[in-house]
Amino acid sequence: MAPKDNHPPTAEMQALDAAHHIHPFSDTAQMRSRGARVITQADGCWLTDSEGKRILDGMAGLWCVNIGYGRHELAEVAARQMQQLPYYNTFFMTTHPPAVALSAKLAEIAPGDMNRVFYAGSGSEANDTNIRLARHYWHLMGKPTKRTIISRKNGYHGSTMGSASLGGMSGMHAQGGMPIPDIVHIDQPYWWAEGGDHSPEEFGRIRAAQLDQMIDELGQDNVAAFIAEPVQGAGGVIIPPETYWPEISRICKERDILLIADEVICGFGRTGNWFGSQTYNIDPDIMTIAKGLSSGYQPIGGSIIRESVAQVIEDGGDFNHGYTYSSHPVAAAVALENIRILEEEGIVTRVAEHTGPYLQKKWASLADHPMVGEARMVGMMGALELTPDASARAGFANEGTVGLMTRERCFANGLVMRHVGDKMILSPPLTISDSEIDTLVELAWKSLDEGMAVAKAEGAF
Ligand code: PMP
Repeated sequence: MAPKDNHPPTAEMQALDAAHHIHPFSDTAQMRSRGARVITQADGCWLTDSEGKRILDGMAGLWCVNIGYGRHELAEVAARQMQQLPYYNTFFMTTHPPAVALSAKLAEIAPGDMNRVFYAGSGSEANDTNIRLARHYWHLMGKPTKRTIISRKNGYHGSTMGSASLGGMSGMHAQGGMPIPDIVHIDQPYWWAEGGDHSPEEFGRIRAAQLDQMIDELGQDNVAAFIAEPVQGAGGVIIPPETYWPEISRICKERDILLIADEVICGFGRTGNWFGSQTYNIDPDIMTIAKGLSSGYQPIGGSIIRESVAQVIEDGGDFNHGYTYSSHPVAAAVALENIRILEEEGIVTRVAEHTGPYLQKKWASLADHPMVGEARMVGMMGALELTPDASARAGFANEGTVGLMTRERCFANGLVMRHVGDKMILSPPLTISDSEIDTLVELAWKSLDEGMAVAKAEGAF
């Protein structure tokens, strides 16, 4: 590891940052008033800030550092690739060894006949690709009116105009004129907050039936695809009732629309299988991948496409689409090495058989905390529902305030957890050890206690 003081003083960095850097998803005024947190290095599951404080990363960065920080193998592969071929593109009938090898590997680990990959630089770009792919596919099939894509409220598919339109985040749609035309949203399978008196099973069926109803409303001849995350991540780790996905899968098949599974978070082991689609027995036509594909060591995303769908695109001549960094050789080489590590160290199997169940058990114990109504988790992604009244599944009056207070206590206690409204979110590196899980859950409990005390003092509880 590099020495911790090989950077300018914290205050100097904060001032320069405030002067010149616009941050994603940040309230600039609030950040400037206290200075941005500066992270300078990381190892395993631990971050170190510019003051030398160590913080347990319960979010694996942004749900992406699946194999943990500090894996020298990835750095070495990147350095070798940079020396040999730092950049070349795969436009105009060209390829290079990392693109070849990664594509073959992805075809091997992806389920069934999902044998083709189109690369992007991120999950957002990949979902933009998916809009183009789905519409172009139906055009080539002689059904050009099949253009509309159905998505879900509170889903997250990225930040570009296309992918944010696919997403169902009202706060994003309010800035910049979204959604773009021909994208519509149905309700999410979020039982805790929206299930009312229905059992989760009933509610899963009710929410899935909305897809059928929306197809009726739009006309089947006008619908290209349905896109959803197997488990909504950024929306607050919304784990669907068991009845949801079987119904959605059936409807997509019967109504002849493409099913796009956004695996950007769920992919590469997060739910205890290579893909969330395997955990939920989903049979998608296209899967969006990013994040865990390279464990975040390089920016790379893509679309894995069912052979029969890809065949139609391929038979249609030029697909007039591509990014300068589609199948970037360094990113592809690093992704391949990341997958090698996931495979050879049996990390995905370990999530299913050991680390996932261990974390789930410890996480479930947080449901005993007086401010927690539900502690849910699948694989190694979970949420705590903070509530003033668990039996009524009630929300707090000023939504998000208690979540924010609790997240601040987490940071102060050396733990990164995210808050989505009044849900606390967890998605640690898949390589976290049992003793680190023990530490994490202790810090979470302590932070919940302190968050509750602050909330009480400020009259929010
Ligand atoms: N899809 C999902 C499910 C995501 O969680 C994200 C990122 N959080 C994206 C797409 C967008 O990926 P990126 O930020 O790499 O563009």
